[in-house]
Amino acid sequence: MKKKYNDTKMWFNIITIFPEMFRAITDYGIVGQAIKKEIININFFNPRNFSKNKYKSIDNRPYGGGPGMLMSVEPLYLAIKAAKSELKDASIIYLSPQGNELQQSNIEQLIKKKKIIFICGRYEGIDQRIIDYQVDEEWSIGNYILTGGELASMVMIDSISRLIPGVIKTKKSIEEDSFSNNLLDYPSYTRPKIIEKMSVPEVLLSGNHNKIRIWRLKQSLGKTWIKRPDLLKKKY
Ligand code: SAM
Repeated sequence: MKKKYNDTKMWFNIITIFPEMFRAITDYGIVGQAIKKEIININFFNPRNFSKNKYKSIDNRPYGGGPGMLMSVEPLYLAIKAAKSELKDASIIYLSPQGNELQQSNIEQLIKKKKIIFICGRYEGIDQRIIDYQVDEEWSIGNYILTGGELASMVMIDSISRLIPGVIKTKKSIEEDSFSNNLLDYPSYTRPKIIEKMSVPEVLLSGNHNKIRIWRLKQSLGKTWIKRPDLLKKKY
């Protein structure tokens, strides 16, 4: 059942021919819980439902020839129109390998938008006129090619959602995650103290919070220096 817009903290309308794929995030884990608590809402708009063709087809041949098919422009356009009319002033994002490569700092900006429409491409992609006249931003989740934009939009929804106040209980755990402050997270250990001769660093058992804080900061700096020196360059 589609919900009408209300002041839920984050609202996503998604244009996809495979809404069922999104159960991976809507029915499980932290995003699933945030939807139940109505901190986040997700509505789907399937271009297939807007196809006027008797076979409800949603692909078409590209002008000028060439391999593969494109998403049909009309059902996609009508689905976007419907998604926009239900979510006024939303930013329209097209998931695309040609978009800006997504970073944690971009996610921190995207949560401010509050209303986002994601267009999930399929086949060889979408008609350039949709990109030119409907899309506000293009985002890529990395320099590789997926078969569709659904996984990419789920990645974005997951990472945006966890930053929304109330979704993750402890704000501090978000602040200490990798990429916050351009540092990787410090190593973590849990019970028991020793497992098959592998033990927990003594300092973590000392109860001295100042010493623990300094040890963790050094570990973060060291790990970032070894694994991701590029992040330190951004920091200093
Ligand atoms: N022909 C397109 C190109 O080379 O730019 C690739 C099309 S791809 C097979 C199909 C759809 O998957 C795209 O329209 C886009 O929505 C999505 N997609 C593929 N790779 C992606 C990536 N790295 N980031 C975000 N979306 C991606």
